[in-house]
Amino acid sequence: MSRHTSWRAGGPARYYATPATPEEARALAAWAQRAGLPLIWAGRGTNSLVRDEGYPGVVAAYRAQAWQLDEAGETALLRVEAGAPMAGLARRLCAMGWAGLEWAEGLPGTVGGAVFGNAGCYGGDTAGVLHSAELLIGERVEVWPVERLGYGYRTSALKEQGQAEAREGVASPPPLILAATFRLTRGDPLALVERAAVIAAERKGKTPSGSSCGSVFKNPPGESAGRLIERAGLKGRQVGGAVISPLHANYIVNMGGATASDILALAALARAEVWARFGIELELEVRVI
Ligand SMILES: Cc1cc2nc3c(=O)[nH]c(=O)nc-3n(C[C@H](O)[C@H](O)[C@H](O)COP(=O)(O)OP(=O)(O)OC[C@H]3O[C@@H](n4cnc5c(N)ncnc54)[C@H](O)[C@@H]3O)c2cc1C
Repeated sequence: MSRHTSWRAGGPARYYATPATPEEARALAAWAQRAGLPLIWAGRGTNSLVRDEGYPGVVAAYRAQAWQLDEAGETALLRVEAGAPMAGLARRLCAMGWAGLEWAEGLPGTVGGAVFGNAGCYGGDTAGVLHSAELLIGERVEVWPVERLGYGYRTSALKEQGQAEAREGVASPPPLILAATFRLTRGDPLALVERAAVIAAERKGKTPSGSSCGSVFKNPPGESAGRLIERAGLKGRQVGGAVISPLHANYIVNMGGATASDILALAALARAEVWARFGIELELEVRVI
């Protein structure tokens, strides 16, 4: 899975698939269930790490990307399939003069990943602009309004449910996010493009170079995970091929050849030191598979 995750680390999945339509995804899930294989839906792997031991089932990266804009005067509803890249979408909408997603300029990953984890940055988040999501649950397609998705900071009802089921070892395939509908408002294209450019420049300045998964930990209430790790004196700490970024301590960067175990050892060290020094428990933002 090092080829399919932005950390460029991790062991193999028994099967890796890229369904590109709801029908392909449904058939794949049915096949996995018949074969007794666990299944995980994925996007672009920019918030996921597969342990070095690998995953004994199917990792299915959903690739459908079509979108459709329904305009109604000064507002619009955008329906977009879950495999579309968030950053490309944001950039395109800015140029077309539709406001709502400009905060997502430069955000790695897909619409599906953003809807699953309530991705957010630069004053916006997915929950703030989402109208509804279409989910494939077993054989059924359900439309969930945003309220039903139980959003919180970098979490959703789908994420919470997934974590609970993983703990309990539930075998049925999790819901697949097929598409999202976002609420947009008309804006000035020049101003939107300019705002996106400012965000892109700011992101570039703050993002350590090299392979990473973005922020490893969620920010604890009223605190910054990066600042806590920095105050614990861990900037620059290395294990194998992985390093706690000297630029941004909530990033662990693969300097080349890092294993998932190297990355997890650094994450465990950061948690232990922050707990020992400040009595604050850090919670992973990335998904460990
Ligand atoms: C350099 C860098 C910077 C980043 N900056 C930010 C930031 O500013 N803010 C932020 O919030 N995040 C940030 N991230 C993390 C990442 O961009 C987001 O979490 C993103 O939304 C993940 O999308 P993905 O498609 O890569 O998801 P993946 O990593 O592929 O999957 C993440 C989770 O979503 C689930 N999932 C994905 N697609 C589907 C689907 N279609 N149906 C059901 N479940 C699905 C997976 O099962 C998994 O649990 C950053 C990452 C990097 C590498």
